Amino acid sequence: MSFEIPSLSRRNLIRTGSAGLLTAVAAPAIIGVANAATGPALPGPSPLDTGKVEGGKVEFPNWRGEADRPSPAPPAPLPPDQRVGFAIVGLGRLSLEQILPAFAECKKARAVALVSGSPEKAKLVAAQHGISDSAVYDYQDFDRIADNPQIQAVYVVLPNGMHREYVTRAAKAGKHVLCEKPMANNSAEARDMIAACDQAGVKLMIAYRCQYEPYNRETIQRMRSGELGAARFIEATNTQVMGPADQWRFKKALAGGGALPDIGLYCLNTARAITGEEPVEVFARIFNPDGDPRYREVEETIGFMLRFPSGTIANCSSSYGAHESKDLRVRAEKGWINLENAFAYEGQELRVAHREGKAESIERLRLPQRNQFALEIDHMATCVKENRVPHTPGQEGLQDHIVMEALYESARTMAPVSLAAVGELDATRGPEPRQEG
Ligand code: NAD
Repeated sequence: MSFEIPSLSRRNLIRTGSAGLLTAVAAPAIIGVANAATGPALPGPSPLDTGKVEGGKVEFPNWRGEADRPSPAPPAPLPPDQRVGFAIVGLGRLSLEQILPAFAECKKARAVALVSGSPEKAKLVAAQHGISDSAVYDYQDFDRIADNPQIQAVYVVLPNGMHREYVTRAAKAGKHVLCEKPMANNSAEARDMIAACDQAGVKLMIAYRCQYEPYNRETIQRMRSGELGAARFIEATNTQVMGPADQWRFKKALAGGGALPDIGLYCLNTARAITGEEPVEVFARIFNPDGDPRYREVEETIGFMLRFPSGTIANCSSSYGAHESKDLRVRAEKGWINLENAFAYEGQELRVAHREGKAESIERLRLPQRNQFALEIDHMATCVKENRVPHTPGQEGLQDHIVMEALYESARTMAPVSLAAVGELDATRGPEPRQEG
C-alpha cells in the first residue's frame, strides 16, 4: 500500500480546511509509509510510547515492571527567557569548574552576566557560556548591574573576606544574592550582610550545597524520621592537603581562618542540619605545624566537639594537612548511617545499618544522580520566582559564624565554651527545598 500526501496547493488548502490538512499530513508520520524502501507499514505508537503533556511537563507512564525503579521523570526546564538571570561574581576555580558548568543542568536559572578583574579571562568565559560582552563587568563598575534588568540575582564566589562588600553592593543594586560559604569572615560581617539585604528587600541565601545534595538530604530525613532512634554521635571529617603558600586561603583578611571556615564548616553545618538543634557547648583544639609559613595567620588542623541539647555529641575533624577524606557517620540508638564522600562534589555512598530479626541488615542506597550545585542554584531561582525564604538564608550562615567564634575561643582558652540555648528546631532555616524540576 502506498500513501500519497496531497499537494499543498492553495486550492487543496481551502478544500481540506486546517483539520483535514493536519490529518492528511500527520497520518503518514503516525502509521508509517509502506513502499519498496521501508517495507510494510509499522504499527503506530501507543500512549505508553508517546507519553503526554500535562501541567507544562512531558510525562511518560512507567514502562518498567513493579520490581524495578521507575526511570526519573524527564527534566522540565523553564524556557530561557523565564529563568532567573544570575551574575557570577569572581571567575576562580569554583566558578569555572563547578558553578558555570552546573548552569547547563539548571532548570530555572541561567547565567547572564560575569564580574571579574581579569578582562581577558572574562571575555573568553563569556564567549564559552554564551554571555554577551556587554554583560561583563569589573569590580569597579560592578554597581552598573543595577541597570541590567536581565540580572535578577548575583552569585558571589569571591574570597570570603570580600563577601560582605559584594553582597552589600548587590543588595544596593536591587539584586537578590546567593553567597558562597563561609558567609563572611566573622559574625559581625554576616549581620551587616543580612541587614543590607533586609533593607533592600532582596533575598539572601548561603550556598550550603550539601543541604540540597540528595544523599545528605536522605541522611537528614532518615534521622529526622526517628526510624533509627536518637543520634548519640555524629562523626564528621573534612580534610585535604593544601599546596603553595601564595593563595588567599592562607591570608586571614581574605579567608577569616583556615581549615575551620573553609572545610570544617561542612562538618559543623551538617551536624546542625541533622539534629535541627543548635549546640549549647563546644570544645576545640588546634594544631599548626612548627615553622610552616602557611600557618602563621590561619589554622592547619582543628578537632572540635559540639554538644546538642538532646544529648547528641558531634566529633568533627578538619585539616589542611591530611589526605583528602570527607566522610560522615551517625551512630544512633537503633542503627547507624555511613555517608562516604559526604562533603565531596560526587561519589557519595550511603549505607544504613539496623537490626533485622536475628541479623544485622546493612542497606546500601543508590539515589538518582543530581548535580548538587544545579539543585542549590535552582532552589535560589525558585525562591526568587515564588517569593519564598531560602532553605539556607543569611541566618544559617550567621549561626555557623557564631559557633565558629565559640570554637576559636575554646581553642584559645583550652576550655569548653557555652552557647545560648535555642528552643526551636531549624530556627535558622527556611522551608524544605522541593525536588527542583
Ligand atoms: P579561587 O581562588 O579559585 O577564586 C577566587 C577568585 O577571586 C579568583 O578569580 C580571583 O582572581 C578573585 N579575586 C578577586 N580579588 C581577589 C583577591 N584580593 N585575592 C584573591 N583572589 C581574588 O577560589 P574559589 O575556590 O573559587 O573560592 C571562592 C569562594 O567559593 C570562597 O568563598 C570559597 O570558600 C567558596 N568555595 C565553595 C566551595 C563549595 O563547594 N561550595 C568550593 C570551593 C570554594
